[in-house]
Amino acid sequence: DKSEGTLLYLDGVSKSFDGFKAINGLSLVLEPGEMRAIIGPNGAGKTTMMDIITGKTKPDVGDVLFEGSVDLTAMDEASIANLGIGRKFQKPTVFESHTIEDNIALALKAKRGPWATLFHRRTAAEAARIDELLAITRLADKRHMLAARLSHGQKQWLEIGMLLAQEPRLLLVDEPAAGMTDAETAETAILLKEIAKTQSVVVVEHDMTFVRDLGVKVTVLHEGSVLAEGSLDAVSSNPKVVEVYLGR
Ligand code: ADP
Repeated sequence: DKSEGTLLYLDGVSKSFDGFKAINGLSLVLEPGEMRAIIGPNGAGKTTMMDIITGKTKPDVGDVLFEGSVDLTAMDEASIANLGIGRKFQKPTVFESHTIEDNIALALKAKRGPWATLFHRRTAAEAARIDELLAITRLADKRHMLAARLSHGQKQWLEIGMLLAQEPRLLLVDEPAAGMTDAETAETAILLKEIAKTQSVVVVEHDMTFVRDLGVKVTVLHEGSVLAEGSLDAVSSNPKVVEVYLGR
């Protein structure tokens, strides 16, 4: 069984919209603990692939398995999120009128349900976890600042921290470097590499400098399937990949 021992296993996945194959025979395997970068030109199917993993879109055919045997195609979006598949969308959604610390605390407490969110007192373990997440997201010195005052890049980091509070088993990140300054982009690569030490991550990204900084295996999507896979150096010297990127 080829899916055994894998964290995420896609095989022969296809999805059409009005007869147009957005995903066409896609196969992708992610090992536990791995961080993978997904690149590809506009329309390659990256967003649709993420939508299929998170259950937002159902494939027409193909296997989508989590931890080797859990059939994600049979589950709705909320159940997939509860399994521990967290997604960070491009646009940050933080609670602007709360402090950085309270944003993290709310995300931690969200695990306990809505009543706990309002009335539960913070335990020592929770306080320690909040400190840890503030350190990971590089926002410890800004903990009492309102989230509204953060830069776009810092809001992205805060939202990553909020997702980590849910203790996902797989973190999916959509174009984290979009709209960031060069300094923030470089810092984000460091942050994700740190997270990836303890956490499986899939990152969709256009910014090649950022992908180079990540230094992980790259999957190139084109017309809904995998065109090439390997190190960024290997895929970017692959003639098929060069043609797809330059022939546009
Ligand atoms: P990427 O994220 O790589 O830019 P997408 O997954 O967004 O690619 O899109 C792949 C293709 O599928 C595109 O041609 C897009 O227009 C088409 N597509 C995606 N979602 C829909 C939809 N809901 N209805 C119709 N076409 C769609």
